[in-house]
Amino acid sequence: MVTILPRIMLKLPVYLDNNATTPVDPEVLKIMLPYFSEQFGNAASRTHSFGWAAEEAVKQAREQVAELIHADPSEIVFTSGSTEAINLAMKGAFEAYASKGNHIITCLTEHKAVLDTCKHLEKKGAEVTYLPVNEEGLINLKELESSIRPTTILISIMMANNETGTIQPVREIGTIAKQHQILFFTDATQAVGKIPVSVTDDQIDILCISAHKIYGPKGAGALYVRRRNPRVRLVSQIDGGGHEKGMRSGTLNVPGIAGLGKSCEICRQQMNREASRISALRDKLENALTQFSPVSVNGCINHRLPNITNLAFAGLPGNKLLTAINRTIAVSSGSACTSANPEPSHVLKAMNLDDELAKSSIRFGLGRFTTEEEIDYTIETVTKLIQNPGAL
Ligand code: PLP
Repeated sequence: MVTILPRIMLKLPVYLDNNATTPVDPEVLKIMLPYFSEQFGNAASRTHSFGWAAEEAVKQAREQVAELIHADPSEIVFTSGSTEAINLAMKGAFEAYASKGNHIITCLTEHKAVLDTCKHLEKKGAEVTYLPVNEEGLINLKELESSIRPTTILISIMMANNETGTIQPVREIGTIAKQHQILFFTDATQAVGKIPVSVTDDQIDILCISAHKIYGPKGAGALYVRRRNPRVRLVSQIDGGGHEKGMRSGTLNVPGIAGLGKSCEICRQQMNREASRISALRDKLENALTQFSPVSVNGCINHRLPNITNLAFAGLPGNKLLTAINRTIAVSSGSACTSANPEPSHVLKAMNLDDELAKSSIRFGLGRFTTEEEIDYTIETVTKLIQNPGAL
């Protein structure tokens, strides 16, 4: 499958779908491997050295995750990823705060993991306000504040969007939530590791992380749950041996957790350098392609993740364009979780794109291992397709 082009030594296909998932960093893999073999202990085995070694790995990972988001290690609950963490956060808060109210505020451009959890909760009696967004994908803070009711228990607004990279005004949202004594949960799956995140500065009460978006393994993630001012209560959604302070039972995925910890550590150390290198490549790609009149950027250019550009190719048939690009470049039309669905993206539609333009939009997601040669190749390939749409 892998083709080598001798002239530029470029390895095809090029991977530009890093918002769907990322490859595991070799340094991360190295840390994980012993926990599959020699150090295979159960982190809950308290009486022998196998258990102690596993427990030590989990402890270190808890510290590494906490440090990246400016939390305390005791506030980290390990999960299988963000989807599970989101379910625990939202369903857990809904049950724990039922005596206070049943109203949740979220927004139309959230990931399906949040939107589908809201739908589930609506069947259980929740009332959910879905805030609209403007053409850049941003919510309106006045609208947020005016939608608060005496029964509002949770504000759930993502930090950065997975399709456009648009970053919401999280600090302002945190301040509003605090003023009204409402819990603030943010899905930071795409933001953590790419931009600085501080649960302290941004007054975030609950936040989710996924390892496979930050060069860690699939099947590992975490939920940050504030322990002070206020102490957040969540009703567990998986019951059993009382692991993770009773919030998430089940034998811990020690290799995955060790990998998540290492991924967080590498991101913390490399974030600034990596963000400037990757955003320069992203800008090169974006500037080259937006020279052509049908091409425009979806999302908020000034408040955006460094690694993403979502481009609308007006007038070009979206499906055919994607298929043509996908011959040698892995990109997607949006969320991987809904890519089997031919419907136009709910995110782009909420941003007021018509169905046609939403279907003609493609997400380019760069990453740690993206090279300049790959970006040059992408510019060349996509340019040819734009200039010769009849061949699509
Ligand atoms: N939230 C966002 C914004 C995402 O991009 C994703 C993954 O695509 C998820 C949640 C789900 O994460 P996971 O794959 O860890 O369940």
